[in-house]
Amino acid sequence: MNIHEYQAKEVLRSFGVPTGKGDAAFSVDEAVKSAESMPGPVWVVKAQIHAGGRGKGGGVKVIKSVAEVKAEAQRILGMNLVTHQTGPQGKLVQRLYIEEGTAIAKEFYLSILVDRETSSIAFIASTEGGVNIEEVAEHTPEKIANIHVDPASGYSPFIGRKIASALKLEGDLVRQCVKMMGQLYRAFTEKDMSLLEINPLVVTNDNQLVCLDAKMNFDDNALDRHPDIKAYRDLSEEDPKEIEASKHDLSYVALDGSIGCMVNGAGLAMATMDIIKLYGSEPANFLDVGGGATKEKVTAAFKIITADPKVKGILVNIFGGIMKCDVIAEGVIAAVKEVGLQVPLVVRLEGTNVELGKKLITDSGLNVITADDLDDAAKKIVKAVKEAA
Ligand code: GDP
Ligand code: MN
Repeated sequence: MNIHEYQAKEVLRSFGVPTGKGDAAFSVDEAVKSAESMPGPVWVVKAQIHAGGRGKGGGVKVIKSVAEVKAEAQRILGMNLVTHQTGPQGKLVQRLYIEEGTAIAKEFYLSILVDRETSSIAFIASTEGGVNIEEVAEHTPEKIANIHVDPASGYSPFIGRKIASALKLEGDLVRQCVKMMGQLYRAFTEKDMSLLEINPLVVTNDNQLVCLDAKMNFDDNALDRHPDIKAYRDLSEEDPKEIEASKHDLSYVALDGSIGCMVNGAGLAMATMDIIKLYGSEPANFLDVGGGATKEKVTAAFKIITADPKVKGILVNIFGGIMKCDVIAEGVIAAVKEVGLQVPLVVRLEGTNVELGKKLITDSGLNVITADDLDDAAKKIVKAVKEAA
């Protein structure tokens, strides 16, 4: 789960981490009130969406009067903000964050993440902050330091000094860095984050280390331990199809392609997506209906797939182990009866009760293309979609 910058900064402050001072604003009036409560002479108006690159997209403005705060709040609130992370469709801005301006001497990049390769938590630090870190990684990777924390010993000031050295900090800033990295590490582990990104981390003109931006991602499987974090969830930032899927306990991820997939098992779902690509098309989603899905769950899954206007064909690929093929067949038939079927549907069933499942589909009179194996199924759906186009 992602949260907004202003929420992430609240979390950081609760661990003692220095951030800018600011307030969330849900209306222009609130933005103005908040700006009036700050001394100035510089204010920052920031669009709150679950995507980065807001600065370049016109969603972050550094300004010098309350009147301008009002004008910028009016412009940004309700705008469709397009950044390199939102995709071309952009995101509607429904919240703002008003912060006291910070006089920046230097900008750095810092993040903490779970590094699966080394099975440890890693700090990523670079002197090239503020700008596009992806570009730094591509052109000057030597400017990015990777510092691992041994999970057995945890954070120690030694790690903080390594980071300070990577950022070329000196004097009191080293002390500030060691302290802040310890606080960030504690926040990361205690709140079960999977990513914490501070870009930029800045040194101010009066030599203070401050987090100017914050992006946080949490491990969904740990959210039940953190009701305070769960309360930050902003459903309007999430794909409605994914919200619907999570209500039915389906593992669903919306993608950009045209072939909707309904599969059981994450590995088989990945293989199905791969083979669709192999035959020249793109999957519209990842969907794992799970091992012991009910007819209702299958129906819900099928409805989510068909409600997506990008879907030009559907591939149902089930290997019945715990899951029975007849249950899948019943779910598909029930869903088609309810919502209709406007696109080609290929069904590949194998395993427990496969004959019964196939018979149910044949007897239903639905316009279904049957397939014998995964390869056959993928070829058939790609072909059917091309022909229908
Ligand atoms: P992002 O573009 O979505 O990553 O948004 P950021 O919060 O990182 O803001 C983009 C840029 O705006 C930063 O890299 C800073 O250069 C600038 N910025 C943000 N806050 C301030 C501030 O308080 N003072 C100044 N001078 N610049 C700021
Ligand atoms: Mn940023």
